[in-house]
Amino acid sequence: MNTVEALTKLGETIETDTRAKDEAKKHSSRGKRKQRAGNLIVITGPSGVGKGTLVHKLLPRMDKLKYSVSVTTRANRPGEVEGESYFFRTRSEFEDMIRQGAFMEWAEFAGNYYGTPRGWVAQELDNGIDVILEIEVQGAKQIFGEHPEAVMVFISPPNFDELASRLKNRKTETPEKIKMRLDKAQEELQEKNVFHYEVVNDKVDEAVNNLEHIVYAERNRIIRT
Ligand code: 5GP
Repeated sequence: MNTVEALTKLGETIETDTRAKDEAKKHSSRGKRKQRAGNLIVITGPSGVGKGTLVHKLLPRMDKLKYSVSVTTRANRPGEVEGESYFFRTRSEFEDMIRQGAFMEWAEFAGNYYGTPRGWVAQELDNGIDVILEIEVQGAKQIFGEHPEAVMVFISPPNFDELASRLKNRKTETPEKIKMRLDKAQEELQEKNVFHYEVVNDKVDEAVNNLEHIVYAERNRIIRT
């Protein structure tokens, strides 16, 4: 090794060491373990891929994990409950909330607005709770831009035909809206490579197991970027 190589290597070692120490400081003070801030876990992927099903199967299996209820201008579907499925608002109410800075991220998707309320999420994370956002790809990218520490998970269908038939069988959208969602899905599937993890939702139980492992692994991660 020549002198330049040796100095570069020494520099890298010191940098890594400093980063590791900074991380260690976040976790301990005078030997006592400080409460860990929660992880922001973003579950994204095309409409109809089954994000909601996976998340709602995961939640009862894990402690210290909560789901962020979004605000939307879409009409509520039969069985959806205000404050549990979504907070349903008019377009003008939603636009007021945008102006007030009430959202961590928001996006217009298939003709409706969707957004993540900022205050609740920040409070839960501070309390050491991991928070799951189940959102479409544009919003996920906004979150990642502002929160590089977020854990980004892309849910893929086993193939495009399967996605199309899931959306049709759901019978929640008109044929026109299904087409809008499938066109959007083509674009979204191109974007998965900017996220940390991919979970293919072929068999639901396997996909939920994979998500659970990701959440546990992230709880034990030492260095975050
Ligand atoms: P749906 O109308 O089928 O409930 O949701 C349509 C899409 O909007 C889904 O991909 C869903 O994950 C996404 N979505 C739900 N809530 C939010 C949100 O708060 N922000 C963003 N950007 N997308 C959301």
